[in-house]
Amino acid sequence: MIDLAIRGGTVVTPEGERRADIAIAGERISGIGDVGPAQREIDARGKLVLPGCVDLHTHLASTPTFAPLDDFEHGTRAAIAGGVTTVVSMVYQEGGSLRRGVERGMRDAERSLADFAFHVVVTDPTETARGEIPGLVRDGHAGLKVFMVSPRFVERRADYGLLLRAAAQAGAVVAIHAEDHATVAARTAELHRHGRTGVQHFPESRPVEAEVKAVAEAVELAATTQATIYLVHLSSRRAIDALREGKRRARVFGETRPLYLYLTRAQFDRPDAALWVGQPPLREADDVDAVWSALADGALDTVGTDHIPHSRAAKLAAGLAFDKIPPGVSNLETLLPMLYSEGVRKGRLTLARLVEVLATAPARIAGMYPRKGVLAVGSDADIVIFDPNARRTIRAADLHSACDYDPYEGWDVRGWPEVVMTRGEVAFERGDLRATAGRGRFVSRAPLVAD
Ligand SMILES: [Zn+2]
Repeated sequence: MIDLAIRGGTVVTPEGERRADIAIAGERISGIGDVGPAQREIDARGKLVLPGCVDLHTHLASTPTFAPLDDFEHGTRAAIAGGVTTVVSMVYQEGGSLRRGVERGMRDAERSLADFAFHVVVTDPTETARGEIPGLVRDGHAGLKVFMVSPRFVERRADYGLLLRAAAQAGAVVAIHAEDHATVAARTAELHRHGRTGVQHFPESRPVEAEVKAVAEAVELAATTQATIYLVHLSSRRAIDALREGKRRARVFGETRPLYLYLTRAQFDRPDAALWVGQPPLREADDVDAVWSALADGALDTVGTDHIPHSRAAKLAAGLAFDKIPPGVSNLETLLPMLYSEGVRKGRLTLARLVEVLATAPARIAGMYPRKGVLAVGSDADIVIFDPNARRTIRAADLHSACDYDPYEGWDVRGWPEVVMTRGEVAFERGDLRATAGRGRFVSRAPLVAD
């Protein structure tokens, strides 16, 4: 007998949308279509049935010198309540070792409610570190991350080239923060020289040119090393043009982040502008249009949250120069409902595309497909029953992040997750978080195979 049947919802699969039942046996989907009697039934009439979202870009793990406000437990409470059932967190190379960063991430994630995996941030691309890559990939850690914006990237360019080559050989995808260090450093120094250290100058310190230059350089590096790269949080029309161009020459994926879909640089005229500081900065309305178009037409592959909130007090601390404000915001719980509300409901994104950018494409890039990211027989029963007509006003007080503000405070949203299941278990139901800390499991990432 089937353990659970989800009846009568509009199911979004790769073949399209259709009215169907879903059968779940144990942790997996055992049937889609007409489903016989089950021990438990969930009525999904009038609801959308979507695969759980996969967020390829979070910062939930600690480092030796930093403990995030949203650790794995708090961050994944927000994730589950928002329909994100798998998170990929950055972990950092530690004491020279990539493996040690992963081990720390594994310990931190023992409290995770969501399933999880990692990208290992490489801050020192030594021969020893590069030598760890094949073993890490064999153990399911087929992802690295590089910050081009760090001075280290400039000093060690050749070694980072060798790192990308090693990643290509082992089948690890390399996530890249593409902002040009020299441009950002020069602009920042100049602003400081003129005493322009207020947050309103933050956008000038990290101009579009810095992003465009780094994207072009990253593409070049991918083309020469055969590496597969994943450009995180692209924010501007010109960077997206460079991504389009890059896709013709190398294996390049592109991500954007909710901030760049909903807000513009006008936010930086507010007295509390620091609350929206993230890297890169918010851009112009024309850039917002370009991000939406690229998401719709496929130039951008995913939306990742870059979830790393800081408290109001930390963001607004008096006297902080623009380059000392801790970057990052909360986004895990609002990722899906806002993209549905602002994208699908407003006709900017199809439902199929919503599922593609939030679930299927990130699962593929992470080497988790078809276990994750799709409603199909045999896939993990990570399922969101989404009420397209629910009305919510976003209030930090109602959300599950440990953060005391939300970047979209006061936004009216149409559509919200009603039931969220992870591996066949109801984790969230009508406002109640049911999953317990430690429910999440490590998801092994398969190496990428060149096509
Ligand atoms: Zn990030």
